[in-house]
Amino acid sequence: MDRASKEGGIADGPLSAFADVLIIGAGYTGLAAAVTTARGGRRTVVVDAASAGWGCSTRNGGQVSTSIKPTLGQLARKFGHKRGRRILMEGRNARRWIEDFIAREKIDCDFRRCGRFHGAHNARALEKLCRQIDSEPDGLESGAWPVARGEQRGEIGSDFYHGGAVFPHVASVDPARYHHGLLRCAKNAGAEIVTHCAAHGIRREGRGFTVATARGTLRAREVVVATNGYTGRVVPWLRRRVIPVGTYIIATEELDAARIKELLPTGRVVTDTRKLVYYYRASPDGRRLLFGGRVLLKESAPMASAPRLFEAMTRIFPQLKDVRVTHCWGGTVAFTFDALPHCGRRGGVHYAMGYCGSGVSLASYFGMRTGQKILGLREGETALDGLPFPARFWYAGRPWFLAPAVSFHRWRDRMGW
Ligand SMILES: Cc1cc2nc3c(=O)[nH]c(=O)nc-3n(C[C@H](O)[C@H](O)[C@H](O)COP(=O)(O)OP(=O)(O)OC[C@H]3O[C@@H](n4cnc5c(N)ncnc54)[C@H](O)[C@@H]3O)c2cc1C
Repeated sequence: MDRASKEGGIADGPLSAFADVLIIGAGYTGLAAAVTTARGGRRTVVVDAASAGWGCSTRNGGQVSTSIKPTLGQLARKFGHKRGRRILMEGRNARRWIEDFIAREKIDCDFRRCGRFHGAHNARALEKLCRQIDSEPDGLESGAWPVARGEQRGEIGSDFYHGGAVFPHVASVDPARYHHGLLRCAKNAGAEIVTHCAAHGIRREGRGFTVATARGTLRAREVVVATNGYTGRVVPWLRRRVIPVGTYIIATEELDAARIKELLPTGRVVTDTRKLVYYYRASPDGRRLLFGGRVLLKESAPMASAPRLFEAMTRIFPQLKDVRVTHCWGGTVAFTFDALPHCGRRGGVHYAMGYCGSGVSLASYFGMRTGQKILGLREGETALDGLPFPARFWYAGRPWFLAPAVSFHRWRDRMGW
């Protein structure tokens, strides 16, 4: 029995022959969609190739942000000013929605609006960050304030950065406990969760679909693909549009409360302006430092990344040189060629994915909106619906260009760009 089975009463049960809605993937996207459709009275089945939450949704860094990466200028050039604003607003909607949802459903997952310190890795990056904050468009202000290098010790027990900025609306969550709460909501709403049941193929038949899985075939009126960084051959069209990228975390041994307070005096989560960003925070129980990033050129076992992450962590916090690392892990996120998440429908099949490493709020929100669309609700429509989902003729799902790209970004970070 897997972990989700023990904790949530989810059995590796048999697969039904029919569903109104079949959802492939039991992470935040799939479960938020399932809660919505099951509560809307649709017979909902969620299948996952592994255990529920085996993907990124139980092992991420737990930083909850507004998450849309491109700026208004970049979006306006492509989609017009009005649509660009609406796209950025969706990031804010997602951040607000997840906070309300967790409160409404009483999910005990240590959700805290702690704010984020975003460290500048050089003076130029600090200037750029300050300019960005000063020129935030009306109605899209983040409420961020700059932190000068001389004041940085108030935010972080390190002189590594050249100052930075605080983004007060960023929150933190215990990712696995949040996932566990979503799983409970989906189960209580009547969704059937079938684990260790990979979907192998989707065929359109009449007004519905026949989906072949490891546990037999199921007929469904609607299908949602919610596989993000683990998107495989089931929908080749999607596979060509998402770039799977590994990211890794180490956890220190338990540290005493005074030491954690010295590292992170305000209790905020941290990221930085590097291209190969480091992200870190105190663990939800406040006893360890969790430090994450992408440090190797190629995908590797987490054990191979751990020493390099330790080096990075101790460059920022030399006072941790004597501290042991007790855990390490990693997972695969999905980037896209336009740095935007995508949700929509193709060939009748719904999808939501491509959160570019920041999916805690976006995955939950776009999953929920996808569920609303299936229920025929107007509020299910989002500013991202129907955006072109770019592919490249030279890419079929294997990111052969990742090592040179990581190498290039590493060089830029070293050169201080
Ligand atoms: C180390 C790490 C740190 C991160 N830190 C943060 C952070 O701090 N903040 C943030 O916002 N985001 C973070 N993320 C990203 C975030 O976790 C993801 O964007 C989010 O969890 C995506 O959720 P999802 O439901 O779309 O996909 P996942 O949770 O990855 O779930 C996809 C599921 O699909 C299943 N699947 C795949 N193929 C099939 C198939 N054929 N049949 C059945 N099932 C299938 C997989 O088994 C998997 O369980 C991090 C990710 C990692 C790995």
